[in-house]
Amino acid sequence: MGEKAAYSRVLLKISGEALAGEEGFGIDPVIIKGIARQIFEVVTDTGVEMAIVVGGGNIFRGVAGSAKGMDRGTADYMGMLATVINALALQDAIEKLGLETRVQSAIEMRQVAEPYIRRRAIRHLEKGRVVIFAAGTGNPFFSTDTTAALRAAEISADAILMAKNVDGVYDSDPADNPDAVKYKELAYIDVLSRSLRVMDSTAVSLCMDNNIPLIVFGVKEEGNIKKAILGEEIGTFVR
Ligand code: UDP
Repeated sequence: MGEKAAYSRVLLKISGEALAGEEGFGIDPVIIKGIARQIFEVVTDTGVEMAIVVGGGNIFRGVAGSAKGMDRGTADYMGMLATVINALALQDAIEKLGLETRVQSAIEMRQVAEPYIRRRAIRHLEKGRVVIFAAGTGNPFFSTDTTAALRAAEISADAILMAKNVDGVYDSDPADNPDAVKYKELAYIDVLSRSLRVMDSTAVSLCMDNNIPLIVFGVKEEGNIKKAILGEEIGTFVR
C-alpha cells in the first residue's frame, strides 16, 4: 500500500454502456477485465474502500421498453435485473484478480447475491471487500445514477466517481458538436439550472442536498479510476 488516496471511501458508478464494446450492447470481456484491473490496482495500492453501483443500459433500459409499449414498471424491473447480470460479471472479473467482493441486491435473490443491508455493506467495506450494489434502488421510475447518490449517502462515501464513456461534462454533446467545451468544475445548482446531462435531476438533487462531490471521467483510459481516487485533476469535478 504505497500511494495516498484523496478519499477513504468512494462510490464508483459504472454505467452499463461503459461495459459494452463497439456495438454498444452486452458485456465486452476485454473491457470488463480492464475495468476490474483498474479497481484491483487502486484498492490494493491505496487501501481505499470501494463500493460500486453498476448500470444496466448495455442490456435493457426501462424507458426504451416503455417507448415500445411495455408497462413502465415491468420494463424498469427488467432494467434492474440487467444490472444484476452486470454486477455478477464485474464480481467475477474482480475476484479473478484476487480481490474479495460481495454483491448486494436491492431485489432479494438469495441464491445469487446478498440482500442489500446497509450496515452489512459498511462492514464489508471496512474489511477491504469491494461491495457491488445491484438491482438499483429496487424501485421502478428511478435510475442507477440515483442509486449511486442514495448508496453514497447511506454509506457516507466521500465522493462519487462517475465512470463514463465520455471524459467529462461538456456544454454541449461532443459527439454532435466538435467545438463542445469541457467543464473542469461545476456547481450542482448549475447542472440543474443549465440542464446539463451529468446525472438525472433526482440524482443531482440528492448529491447536492447531501454535499457529496462527484467526479465525472472517462473509464476506458487505463488508470483513470486511480487518478480520480488520488485526487488528480481529471474529467469534471462537481460539488
Ligand atoms: N432501474 C430502475 N430503478 C432503479 C435503477 C434502475 O427501475 O433504481 C432500471 C431502469 O429501467 C433503468 C435500468 O434499470 O433504465 C438500467 O439502469 P440505468 O439506465 O440507470 O443504467 P445505465 O444508464 O447506468 O447503464
